[in-house]
Amino acid sequence: MTAQYSGDKKTPVLRLENIVRAYGPVRAVDGVSFDAYPGQFIALLGPNGAGKSTLFQLLSGLFTPDSGLIDVMGHDMRRDPVPALAGLGIVFQQSTLDLELTVRGNLLFHSGLHGIPGAIARQRIARELDRLGLSDAADNKASALSGGNRRRVELARALLHEPRVLLMDEATVGLDIQSRADLRKLILSLRRERGVAVLWATHLTEEVVDADRVIVLHKGKILRDTTPAELLASTGKASIEDAFLGLTGSPPKAAA
Ligand code: ADP
Repeated sequence: MTAQYSGDKKTPVLRLENIVRAYGPVRAVDGVSFDAYPGQFIALLGPNGAGKSTLFQLLSGLFTPDSGLIDVMGHDMRRDPVPALAGLGIVFQQSTLDLELTVRGNLLFHSGLHGIPGAIARQRIARELDRLGLSDAADNKASALSGGNRRRVELARALLHEPRVLLMDEATVGLDIQSRADLRKLILSLRRERGVAVLWATHLTEEVVDADRVIVLHKGKILRDTTPAELLASTGKASIEDAFLGLTGSPPKAAA
């Protein structure tokens, strides 16, 4: 059996306090606050336009909020961005692998960017590829991989610097049903093994059912931050999709 994380689970690894980001009159993120704890799989559920991408861009340091605090492992993202960003692993919605490089080449390049010494990088690359079932593909060009395996390489890459928070922005977009389910299962077990907090943005209700927490985002605001079971109980609905519809008046898959 795989070892489970046995460290501190009570100190938040990510804290958001009253984050606001507007584009002109549109408050894309409008007063969002929550904490994420080690080992939690948190689904951020919202339709197109809910503010998920904007929130992820703020979390990944691409730009700063108009107001509010983002804290990663005790480091304020605005005042102390380097250690804050070092605590985050990110898998973007769009693939960002260099398709001309091998799998190992992609991972070595990223290790270099993070200043991970060569011997340690090689050890970690071997460990992650083994964990993700990709050891045999290490010397293949990224272009030769299936969509599901490319995502796995991006996941391996996001884990190389041993982040405590893993951000996955609609990471299953473009994958077939089996690959989507496999990726989610993998993340669910990794978060227990590594004690990493996972923030999984999605507009797909079926990706929420086995989350530890679901945060319902609508028009930039958090409508609920709860468990999937409590979301159903409190709305009196039989499915997450109906619960979402009841809360927002719009189905999660439709444009807002
Ligand atoms: P999601 O990722 O949930 O689909 P977004 O964060 O992309 O949501 O969008 C939230 C809101 O902010 C939407 O109303 C969208 O139109 C607006 N928005 C996002 N990016 C920009 C931008 N660069 N300029 C103007 N408005 C934007």
